[in-house]
Amino acid sequence: MLAPRMPVTYKRLAIPGSEVTQKGDSWEERLNPREKKQMKKLIVGLQIVSLLAASAYAYGPRGHHLVGAIADKRLAKKKPVANKVKELLDGLTLEAAATLPDELKSLDDCGKKPGTKPLNGSKRINNEMRAFLNANRCDGNPSHHDFHFTDVPVFGDEKYGGGEVGRSNFDIVHMIPFCIRVLKGQVPETNGRAITKTVAVILLAHYLGDIHQPLHVGAEYFNASGNPFEPATTNKGFADQGGNKLTLFTLAGGKKVSAGKFHSYWDGQTVDNAFGAAANQTIATKLAGTEPANWKLTGAVETWAEQLANDILPLAREAHERLEFKNIKSKTGAKDIVSGRAEEKKKPGEPFYAIWAAATVKDEVHKAGWRLAALLEELLQ
Ligand SMILES: [Zn+2]
Repeated sequence: MLAPRMPVTYKRLAIPGSEVTQKGDSWEERLNPREKKQMKKLIVGLQIVSLLAASAYAYGPRGHHLVGAIADKRLAKKKPVANKVKELLDGLTLEAAATLPDELKSLDDCGKKPGTKPLNGSKRINNEMRAFLNANRCDGNPSHHDFHFTDVPVFGDEKYGGGEVGRSNFDIVHMIPFCIRVLKGQVPETNGRAITKTVAVILLAHYLGDIHQPLHVGAEYFNASGNPFEPATTNKGFADQGGNKLTLFTLAGGKKVSAGKFHSYWDGQTVDNAFGAAANQTIATKLAGTEPANWKLTGAVETWAEQLANDILPLAREAHERLEFKNIKSKTGAKDIVSGRAEEKKKPGEPFYAIWAAATVKDEVHKAGWRLAALLEELLQ
């Protein structure tokens, strides 16, 4: 069980190492020079990115492109694997392919006829992705929109296999092994999901990014009083839809400022906070050349998705524990909450939410790139 979520008083908070502590109410006065610099950078970033805010339901394009680009660079040294990827993708890079599953989602609004805009890639890739879309339409069951995430409750200490709420046979933890079995030839390319080997590589390039985004794996659930709780199959409460139903408020310049939808914040804002203005190619070259700590997975590749989900759950938990939830609105009979606020709690001696989240994303994107390359190497060598 978690410690009770106590409201935090923002006044009279001291940050160890700061020259000015407990003096006045300005956050800036209480920061040490390094934290001050970090905060200023983040505030500028926030202002820029809020101008470019877009709705997103996965790591935004940049996060996915980076994961693909790191894998491209890792595989460049393994010619036989790189050649097979090239052949399956008709020369499209993993960097470019990694965002196609989200582009497909934006073409397929529930209840509407899918848009006809062509995707990046060859005619064959377009035809296969269209067939995949038609076999898993947005308003169907299963829907390709559901393949990108799972919603394991963050309250308590559940692992993916430790319960049923939020999981499904077509969630990301099931779809990654499905793609793996297609590439291994254990599931025919003529399967009911219309996942060919080419589509499988495209989906893996994308889902490996998504499963490294904490809010694609863990979700908060609320009881009828609007308090976080541990749901059960008999009482599922109201889900936050992976943070899509919550608005995040982070601390900037001593005030709680809206950072937009909690889920979208982790998809896009954190990636920009983590990598700043540097070019994706520069970042990917650096990260592909530096081995991340604790990235290796063990056992059969079919088990990797569940290992990845369990690996990121503590971070998903922390992403929620650092917040307090207010004004949670729900309607009797609904599956999800209607809306609510997720506000940063600042604890003495601990980094700001934005700084912690950016560091987390940097590490996860790095590991995701290495793991995508390792997975494709296992499957295609
Ligand atoms: Zn996604």
